[in-house]
Amino acid sequence: MNRPQTSPAIDIARARADTPGCAGVVHFNNAGAGLMPQPVIDAVKEHIDLEARIGGYEAEDLARDRLDEIYRSIAWMLNCKTEEIALVENATVAWNTAFYSLPLRPGDRVLTAMAEYASNFLNYLHAAKRLGVVVEPVPNDETGQLDTDALERMIDGRVKLIAITHVPTNSGLVNPAAEIGRIARKNNIPYLLDACQSVGQMKIDVEEIGCDLLSATGRKYLRGPRGTGFLYVRDSILEKLDPPWLDLRSARWVDPDRYELAPGARRFENWEFNFAALLGLGAAVEYALDWGLDAIEDYVTAYAAHLREELHAIPGVSVRDIGARQCGIVTFRVRGKAEEIAAALTTEGINVSVSVASSTLLDMRARGLDNVVRAGVHYYNDEAEAERFLTAIRRLAAEI
Ligand SMILES: *Cc1c(COP(=O)(O)O)cnc(C)c1O
Repeated sequence: MNRPQTSPAIDIARARADTPGCAGVVHFNNAGAGLMPQPVIDAVKEHIDLEARIGGYEAEDLARDRLDEIYRSIAWMLNCKTEEIALVENATVAWNTAFYSLPLRPGDRVLTAMAEYASNFLNYLHAAKRLGVVVEPVPNDETGQLDTDALERMIDGRVKLIAITHVPTNSGLVNPAAEIGRIARKNNIPYLLDACQSVGQMKIDVEEIGCDLLSATGRKYLRGPRGTGFLYVRDSILEKLDPPWLDLRSARWVDPDRYELAPGARRFENWEFNFAALLGLGAAVEYALDWGLDAIEDYVTAYAAHLREELHAIPGVSVRDIGARQCGIVTFRVRGKAEEIAAALTTEGINVSVSVASSTLLDMRARGLDNVVRAGVHYYNDEAEAERFLTAIRRLAAEI
């Protein structure tokens, strides 16, 4: 694979022409699911057609090289080895598999972030109940991001995991993942990063970040099909992990009383795949790499910053994003309302979503919020769409 190290600015017209959905909707719901570009749609449809024609297992055999290529593409994107990638059905399965592979014992402390995702936190509570581990959120600093000084002060011999969300589901915050990684490294503590909202909208380099485990999904900023995800497992941590369960892909039954784990991160996979969707994921990663993650990040960050600035100037609108560094997720309320605003935008063909308190309970409670409107923007969103969105919000703010 020969890829350019720097990428030119995004050609928005081409990005839009590649994306059939752009013709029908203003899609600001990329934090929910991005619009698939044509190469992804083609990869999925072609494989389903092939399965229908020759049989599922036979189609898999024919696609073998392209299936192997998916691991290489993801490894390239994250700057890791091919063997350090496991493909799974979503980010939740990736994260849970990592979390329940760690040898946590009663009294072990898990340090997490205020903006932690509900599904992760539910498992901390579950592990607290089942295993007696203690979960403690690290407070935010005055900008709203995880306070790395506080993290350092909280560390002692009982901390057995640092697990944080990089970009939360409910705001534009980008937590200081690399700074947290340095602290985790220095203290030799496993570090699990939920990169579900950051992968695909910015450059993610696991060496720079220093995480041992990273979970992500295919359908959000990567613009892959639904029902795809992956897990990165640093090879140096592999021997410390025990998969929570096995099957005939993750392990091989070699004697009546003995099994061997699959090599590398493949021990965290399971047998059955939606191969069409996986091929779509591979096409999505290649497509993102062709644009360049730096170029995507530049565009998305600037576009979101423009929306925030304009929203901020509208009477009655409160922008709710926090943190020193902010990304493509823009959150706000209009005169304290979110549901009504999202519904009104939907009727005008503008897709946004509503983040409710229970998705990130610690953060939302701390900020006294029940919900926020979430506009997750991408590099196929153009200036005219920003204007349409802002015009709609100006009108709603005056009416409501
Ligand atoms: C969406 C999301 C997840 C879950 O991803 P799935 O692919 O739906 O399992 C995890 N973490 C964060 C921060 C998310 O936004």
